[in-house]
Amino acid sequence: MSFADLKRKSQSNFEFLQKELEKSSTATGADSRLWKPELDASGNGYAVIRFLPAPDGETVPWAKVYNHAFKGPGGWLIDGCPTTIGDKCPICAANTRLWNSGHESDKATARDRKRKLSYYSNIFVVNDPKNPDNNGKVMLFKYGKKIHDKILAAMQPEFQDETPVNIFDFWEGANFKIKIKTVGGYWNYDASEFISPAALSSDDDEMESIWKQTYSLEAFTAPSEFKSYEDLQIRMDSALGAAPETLQTQSEEYEDPAPVATATRERSDNSSSSKSEDDDDALSYFARLAEED
Ligand SMILES: [Zn+2]
Repeated sequence: MSFADLKRKSQSNFEFLQKELEKSSTATGADSRLWKPELDASGNGYAVIRFLPAPDGETVPWAKVYNHAFKGPGGWLIDGCPTTIGDKCPICAANTRLWNSGHESDKATARDRKRKLSYYSNIFVVNDPKNPDNNGKVMLFKYGKKIHDKILAAMQPEFQDETPVNIFDFWEGANFKIKIKTVGGYWNYDASEFISPAALSSDDDEMESIWKQTYSLEAFTAPSEFKSYEDLQIRMDSALGAAPETLQTQSEEYEDPAPVATATRERSDNSSSSKSEDDDDALSYFARLAEED
């Protein structure tokens, strides 16, 4: 960015920082910009959203992020995986060693700790029946491979009779109906679909105002979002209960080492969750656990 751009964008930079401040000062630490669908009493979820173009100054309308989320005897580890930005990751390295050991139990452990993929996009909430306050808002939506595949299928259809749709486009894009069913305790998005392409609004000014409210997606893959190899190694040792005494007393999160009985129970929990083949839904499950604390 040139100095002239810096001057020109001074107001929008200020607005960006205000939003960031708001985000970091919410009581629960949860990101208030994130939109999440909610289930009704029957275990189904329904909402209509619109994926939005990349924010001003950015080129890609999604951020692709790998995370690790697992619980060891020393507590939860929920951290960005540095492979997201092409750096080495001590957890992935340990997983490779476990995977190559040849023991099934090690493979199960590696599966439980493996990096999980999620995407972030800006969305316009068209209709959120469970939380109508969200209607008309620009928010961030975190989603997994299944929804990303539906986006790809719309943009690059497999069959000749289907027309590719840039679902991120204000004018030629399409609203997305989110339909969630609970299958085996996990959220299943299979029934979700894009509807026929149509402009989000007939009013360009309204769409410009929506676009100006979009959040930076590149911020999710900024190097500052990821711990260094050494710090992540310390974090992993701590979660796995292998940290030196001093580290455990220094960190509030880990002042309470789990007794042996708890560790045994967690292992059995892990073995049941590793049976799940849907990592995206498993991640959203872990993420919900983590965010609802
Ligand atoms: Zn990793």
